[in-house]
Amino acid sequence: MTIYVPPEPFAWRFCGTCGRELIAAHDGQSERPHCPACRRFYYRNPVPATCCFVRRAADELLFAQRAVHPCRGDWTLPGGFVELGETTEEAALRELREETNLRASRARLIGVSTKQSPVSGAIMVLGYLIEEWESEAEMRPDTDAMDLRFFKKDERPRVPFSVHQELLNLYDALGL
Ligand SMILES: [Zn+2]
Repeated sequence: MTIYVPPEPFAWRFCGTCGRELIAAHDGQSERPHCPACRRFYYRNPVPATCCFVRRAADELLFAQRAVHPCRGDWTLPGGFVELGETTEEAALRELREETNLRASRARLIGVSTKQSPVSGAIMVLGYLIEEWESEAEMRPDTDAMDLRFFKKDERPRVPFSVHQELLNLYDALGL
């Protein structure tokens, strides 16, 4: 019996159900953390998150200035992690509402980017295009954002997250 040695930070060492130390076991495909008592394999997958491309006029996108760490003060696309029990589209619209107070009812999937992040581990970000929303007068930074601004393409701020940059490149390449 081999005790499971996590290959990366934040990996599991103990069973979340019974608390026993996990062992390394083969699930038919590869070696994975396993709890012999619960007969359960532990699978590590990228964590799903969303980001919003809120478009005004032809080439203006909405950016939110982060009020929280990491990268406090930097400008990013509004978005956040998907919660259990909601669709990814609902997550995008909820995050938009929480960060900007904009209410939208339609979000169109642009594409997906997956990266290993030193802070949150592996993350899979779904980019959604949002072109219609209720009154812009209600727009105000909320929870995680300290300021909100629309930027034209040639004035866009540098974004700190490579997944967002990759999705911005995709957005530009698609010419939506
Ligand atoms: Zn267990």
